[in-house]
Amino acid sequence: MLEISTIKCLTDNYSYLIRDKETNLVGVIDPSEFTPVDRTIAESYKKLDFILNTHHHFDHVGGNKKLKEKYSCKIAASKIDESRIPGIDIKLKEGDFFNFGKINFKVIFIPGHTKGHIAFYSKSEKIIFTGDTLFSLGCGRIFEGTYKQMFESLNKIKSLPTSTKIYCGHEYTKKNLQFCMKYENNNNFLRKKLNWVNSQLDKKKPTIPISLGEELKTNIFLRCNELSLKNALGMNNASDEVIFKKLRDLKDQF
Ligand code: ZN
Ligand code: FE
Repeated sequence: MLEISTIKCLTDNYSYLIRDKETNLVGVIDPSEFTPVDRTIAESYKKLDFILNTHHHFDHVGGNKKLKEKYSCKIAASKIDESRIPGIDIKLKEGDFFNFGKINFKVIFIPGHTKGHIAFYSKSEKIIFTGDTLFSLGCGRIFEGTYKQMFESLNKIKSLPTSTKIYCGHEYTKKNLQFCMKYENNNNFLRKKLNWVNSQLDKKKPTIPISLGEELKTNIFLRCNELSLKNALGMNNASDEVIFKKLRDLKDQF
């Protein structure tokens, strides 16, 4: 069993501290910066065995070097990004398993936001760390990859069990929700979600994690096959992938 704590970093980033209860291994996913992560470790487990990075952007690896210096932890990340991940030790690719004590994280290659982006998925824990690929009610910008890659990466995540909890890299839910509402204003799940998101944020609480099942009902980027959405865009006959590209472009300007 895993213990997971959410650490707020920078302006809207989340890093996640994880501990395998059986072996007492401690890891952190995407340490944006040293100080808040170090403080959380000091208040809790007082050690760090692994850093897991989803991709190379500074707001996901910013704490790598100092944490490694202080805790002598090992850093696991995408092989494709080996030259861009500070301090990388363990190089991962699609289908690899990263054994974290008794937990087996499957590495899922999800390019699009960056060329080497990966997710860490545990079937037994029903969790996935999606970095900047899938957010609650949104998806990442396409910086290095193609629309097709991003669309396929999201489809890979979509195929996981609906009970899977999604832990993503940013608190973007409210802005994402406003975008989803613009094109699916009749979606009752979204309307309900608005109140919940506002109340979480008012209490200074994260809107993360969120289940994949919930996202499938509300995240417009996972709903490109919906006829009502195609209608709202005036693109009834367009393929799901074309709808995705359209939405991604609209979101970039939103
Ligand atoms: Zn990023
Ligand atoms: Fe990011």
